[in-house]
Order: sequence, then C-alpha cells, then structure tokens
Amino acid sequence: MTRQVAADDAGIAEAARLLRAGALVAFPTETVYGLGADATSEAAVEAIFRAKGRPHFNPLICHYCSADEAGEDVVLGGLARRLAEHFWPGPLTLVLARRPASRIRQLAGAGLSTLAVRVPAHPVSLALLRAVALPIAAPSANRSGQVSPTTAQHVLDGLSGRIALVLDGGPTEVGLESTVLDLTGEPAVLLRPGGVPLEAIEAVIGSVRRPLPIGLAGNGRPTLQSPGLLVSHYAPELPVRLDARMAGADEALLAFGPAPPGAGLVFQLSGRRDLGEAASRLFGGLRTLDAEGRRLGLRRIAAMTVPEHGLGLAINDRLRRAAAPRG
Ligand code: AMP
Ligand code: MG
Repeated sequence: MTRQVAADDAGIAEAARLLRAGALVAFPTETVYGLGADATSEAAVEAIFRAKGRPHFNPLICHYCSADEAGEDVVLGGLARRLAEHFWPGPLTLVLARRPASRIRQLAGAGLSTLAVRVPAHPVSLALLRAVALPIAAPSANRSGQVSPTTAQHVLDGLSGRIALVLDGGPTEVGLESTVLDLTGEPAVLLRPGGVPLEAIEAVIGSVRRPLPIGLAGNGRPTLQSPGLLVSHYAPELPVRLDARMAGADEALLAFGPAPPGAGLVFQLSGRRDLGEAASRLFGGLRTLDAEGRRLGLRRIAAMTVPEHGLGLAINDRLRRAAAPRG
C-alpha cells in the first residue's frame, strides 16, 4: 500500500524516517514529483530502478540541500560554483566528476565516472533533504518512459503499491524536468533542455554546445554522453502528431494560443502563448487528453507548434520524445 500524506511538518518527518530506513518516497520539487531513495544504499537505489522499470544504464540525479553538500560527492570547479550561485536552488542539474570518496552507490550513477547533482528549489524538498541529511537519488516519480508526474495523484496513477509514501505538496510550479548540463569538458554541453532556459545559462557562462534536436539526432539509441536520454519518452498511450495547425475528427488538440475552429477535445497550454504557463501545464495536458481522448474513442493527440526559444526548447524536446516511434 502506498500512503499519501500532506507535506506538512509531520509528513516531512515521516518521509525522512522512511528514506533513512531505505524506503521509496515520492516528494514534490519545483520541476516534477521525484521518486527519492537513499543514494548511499545499494538496496534503496536498486528499488528505484525496480519500481520505475527503469533500465540500469540510465543514471539518476542526486539531490542535495546545498552546493556544499553536493561538493562532498562531486568536484565543484569554478564554472560549477558560478552556475550554482546563479541557479541553485533551482531546476539546473550539473554533470560533474565524481569524487573517489563519493558516498553515492555506483548503481545510482550507472557506473559512470561522473555524477549528476542538483539542489531543488521547493520548500518541501529542501526541508526533506535537511531532515534526511543524506544525498537523495530522485528520478521523476513515474514508470519509465511514461509522462512525468506534476501532482501527487499522477504519482499514484503510476506507482501506487510500488512505493511507501507520496508527500502531497500540490501541483509543481515549473512542470518540466531540470536542465541537464555536462561540465566535464569544454565547452559545457546541454544534455537536456529543462526548467532553466539555455539563454539564462549562456548569459552567465557564455556559449554552451547544444545537441541536434530530437528527430534530427539519429537512431533512437541513447548517446554515450547521456545514457538515459532515450528518444521515445514522456509517451502517452495515444500517438502524438507535431506541428498541428488543426485537429482531425479523430484527434484531441493540445493547443498553444487560440485553437483552430472545429477542434473537439482541446487542452489549452496557454491561451496568451506564455511559455512558463505552457510548461507548467504540459504533462497534465498530455495526461488529460490521453485519458479523455481514449474514452471518446479518439486516435491521436495533435500538438500545436511552440516557439523554439526559452522554455519552448524544453517543451518541444518533450513533445518530440512523446511523438517519437515507440521502442
Ligand atoms: P530523470 O531523473 O528521469 O529526470 O533523468 C535524469 C537525466 O539525467 C537522464 O536523462 C540521465 O541520462 C541524465 N544523467 C544523469 N546522470 C548523468 C551522468 N552522470 N551523465 C550524463 N547524464 C546523466
Ligand atoms: Mg524521468
């Protein structure tokens, strides 16, 4: 049985107790709900992969309550410190060299010599991380390949019975996963667009290398650099069609800005074409259209175009993966 409790002081204390005992606890962050486990425990980390059905080659992000804490497990160079000062706590994950004395289990980092770390900007995550006083490995709290959760109910929809507890802190604010930046070489490489726009990062550290957008990049296999970045991901059950200007009779429409006339089932990401609003509503919109669309016998989700700048980079990345051929 998975219990859902409010993210108040008592709930956070219970979650911390469970995490220290090696159990799995889902908790809100500013990006999406995370599925947390003690990153120093082999059994707890293995339980994350089992509960999610996540392939072992896909490394986990370790969460900390401060940059200094993260510095216990990875080498924080000048560039990393500068980024941490600007963006932590916040939706930026840094891939850095692992310290030889790192407390993190190899399994959490998929056996790589690097480790992905971040300090989340959510009062509940920070209170929980302080109370646990351990690094917490936390991927998104969904079954592998499915749409990420932005509410406690989304977590239960996918993981009920598979985890001990979900802390309910209401809907998450950013709604998209963190931006992942590889700092192990020069220049820095954007591994995943996310909640911190690339332009904001480049304003601090100069030019960042960006990979080709999904679909142009290749063969659907994960790259060596970021082993977990599978092309098909974030996938609802209904197929997704991109760059829609109108919806067919058998399609549900994911709208950005005024919906074309004649569309039946519509989920509006942002009527005023605000990228932040659209990002926060994206995963919920995909879930709603998937469930409602299937109930109505529709065959597909048609997604309108979102501009390729700011948070639009991350929104388009998730939509392309949702639309990619399923593995
Ligand atoms: P998730 O926790 O589901 O949001 O996914 C974490 C993302 O970070 C995945 O795409 C991983 O491939 C990426 N990641 C985690 N650790 C590393 C690492 N050491 N090197 C490169 N990418 C990583
Ligand atoms: Mg995920």
